[in-house]
Amino acid sequence: MTIVENLDKVRGQIPSYVRLIAVTKKKSVTVIKEAYNYGIRDFAESRIQEALLKQEQLQDYPDICWHFIGHVQTNKAKKVLENFHWIHSVDSLKLAEYLDKLASKTSIFPHVCLQVKLLPDPNKYGWEVIELWQDLSNLESLKHLKIEGLMTILPLGLSKAECLDTFEKAKELAAKITEKSSLQLKELSMGMSNDYLLAVEKGATMIRLGTIIFGERE
Ligand SMILES: *Cc1c(COP(=O)(O)O)cnc(C)c1O
Repeated sequence: MTIVENLDKVRGQIPSYVRLIAVTKKKSVTVIKEAYNYGIRDFAESRIQEALLKQEQLQDYPDICWHFIGHVQTNKAKKVLENFHWIHSVDSLKLAEYLDKLASKTSIFPHVCLQVKLLPDPNKYGWEVIELWQDLSNLESLKHLKIEGLMTILPLGLSKAECLDTFEKAKELAAKITEKSSLQLKELSMGMSNDYLLAVEKGATMIRLGTIIFGERE
């Protein structure tokens, strides 16, 4: 299957309001252009150095919307802010506060998702639900971040029912935070190649797809 065929297949499976974000980590600029020519405008990277090299080669594609989905180290935060429209992987109050400070200095106001862990997963960054509630009032005070949604990555090895249940919990959490705070969490960034149909069923507004579009990463 070609990239175009893969994209066609996925687009045919999901409603038009779902934003299909093409995850191009470890993939070349050539494949990015292929997806772009198909009509994709949302691209995601998880490592800043790799992303900057590609962005430099894609200066003739100014309408790409860049999404950062990797863990943001403090010393890379400024580069992430300057070169990405969305940061899906804001995973701690400390990082959020630091980005807010940088945003106020640079007058770049990024769209942000808060990364949450709905199930314990030692291999993943992100807030546990209880901690997120504890940090909420501090997050509400960060006026330079456009905090617009939740992002979640499921642990490996869940059954279909467990996936659905966990995505449902993400949706309910976003709704509850929106109800109880000044944050408006209308975006749900959830769903990857192996679980995006389940995520969409539970209200994902953004799906992040790599393998199913571009094939396995080296
Ligand atoms: C790599 C990655 C993806 C894409 O994963 P696939 O399984 O290849 O679709 C999505 N989200 C995040 C945060 C990633 O790091």
